[in-house]
Amino acid sequence: MNSLPTNPEVIVIGAGAAGMAAADALAKAGVDVVVLEAAGHVGGRCYTDKNQFAQPFDMGGAWFHSAEINPLARLAEQRGARLYKKQWTYNWAWTDEHNLTDAELEDFTSEHLEMWKAVRLAGKEPVDQTPYQVTPNSCWKKAAKHWIAQMQGGDSDVTSVQDIVQYDSTEGNWLVQGGLGDFVKSLFPNLPIKLNCAVTKIDTTGSEIHVETTEGTLNAKHVIVTVSTGVLAAENIQFVPDLPPEKRDAINQLPNGLLNKVGLDFDPSWKRAVEGEMADYHTSDDEFCTILFGFFETDLAVGFVAGRFADQLELEGKGAATEFCLEGLKNIFGNGVTKYIRATNETAWRATPNALGAYSYARPGGAGARKVLAAPIDEKLYFAGEATSTNSYATVHGAYQSGIDVAKDVLASRAMS
Ligand SMILES: Cc1cc2nc3c(=O)[nH]c(=O)nc-3n(C[C@H](O)[C@H](O)[C@H](O)COP(=O)(O)OP(=O)(O)OC[C@H]3O[C@@H](n4cnc5c(N)ncnc54)[C@H](O)[C@@H]3O)c2cc1C
Repeated sequence: MNSLPTNPEVIVIGAGAAGMAAADALAKAGVDVVVLEAAGHVGGRCYTDKNQFAQPFDMGGAWFHSAEINPLARLAEQRGARLYKKQWTYNWAWTDEHNLTDAELEDFTSEHLEMWKAVRLAGKEPVDQTPYQVTPNSCWKKAAKHWIAQMQGGDSDVTSVQDIVQYDSTEGNWLVQGGLGDFVKSLFPNLPIKLNCAVTKIDTTGSEIHVETTEGTLNAKHVIVTVSTGVLAAENIQFVPDLPPEKRDAINQLPNGLLNKVGLDFDPSWKRAVEGEMADYHTSDDEFCTILFGFFETDLAVGFVAGRFADQLELEGKGAATEFCLEGLKNIFGNGVTKYIRATNETAWRATPNALGAYSYARPGGAGARKVLAAPIDEKLYFAGEATSTNSYATVHGAYQSGIDVAKDVLASRAMS
């Protein structure tokens, strides 16, 4: 464990947005803290790749969602970061084997709004339902399925409307120059982080907590776990004693859903779509992608596949998601479009060992599980990360805020002892 203390007061597991925010708040309060990170880089599911394209490509989190109330968006403003605030709109949709006419597209777009209205109303009812159960019956009902999968990571027949309504949604989805992963990383320049150090076991039976890692064992008074619910469910970390049944149940209620991205680097001479424009492509009720054009005012487009279909494409192998998006582009814009694509890159979040999925959704009846997951155990073991956020789950700002909140809890428990 070179150059980092082996017996810090607090160990944070994971250097994603939650872990870095927690460690930063604790370090600023004078607490001896170490972050252990399994991967070779910080950022976790919010990571900017700069090797594939001339422009940054956020492999995971990219937008400041709910920008009006997003604490990271406020930090970006304070730091004078360049922000892209353009609202994305549907300009093309290909479904039932044809490009929608302008009138159909208008109908399709207003159905999108109707679906969210119905979900919000149903989410306030005492009995939880799936979005699919409450989506209005219209010719677009099948298309509406993918809107949920893309937002929730889980399909519209397995997710909870009560969970959706507890999410704080406001105006504004902003991008930041240089990528969100790099922006978040820049907020935490001097943290004591040990990379390539996977935690394998946490033993809380003694007065000190023993944390076993691939690089040796450490002891601490408090441990903050920020790994995804995918990693928790896979039991990559052994807890001794095991997590209590209510915590295991909460993990089960909050599966790590899937969203994958396909980066498509267009030649600048292709002018058919510009920043803020979107194309939807459906080959069946369950097979769809959405392609957004002009990231950071460049020629980078990004395709999105979600839910069970994204899992299916990942299983088919590398390149399957890209192929599907290219097929969509050809149907929408004509076969010639692909000759303008200079490079592609796709993510595989299900197979990424330290994430095992994209972000959490709640199963029907599971909206309360986020609070259960967030609850500390005996003032020793604390939990943070996007899945523990009731109002901003599945986001970078939710993860960040959960890190700040858990640091406050640890500081309060120290003050009491
Ligand atoms: C494709 C995609 C698109 C997204 N788009 C957006 C978006 O536009 N806007 C938005 O706000 N959010 C978005 N999100 C969600 C957002 O990225 C996540 O909610 C957020 O980054 C999660 O942060 P976290 O700190 O909770 O978890 P993580 O980032 O997963 O951090 C946990 C860390 O723990 C590490 N770890 C795992 N196991 C171990 C172990 N055994 N030992 C030590 N370390 C371990 C991991 O490597 C990781 O670094 C997106 C996510 C994906 C995948």
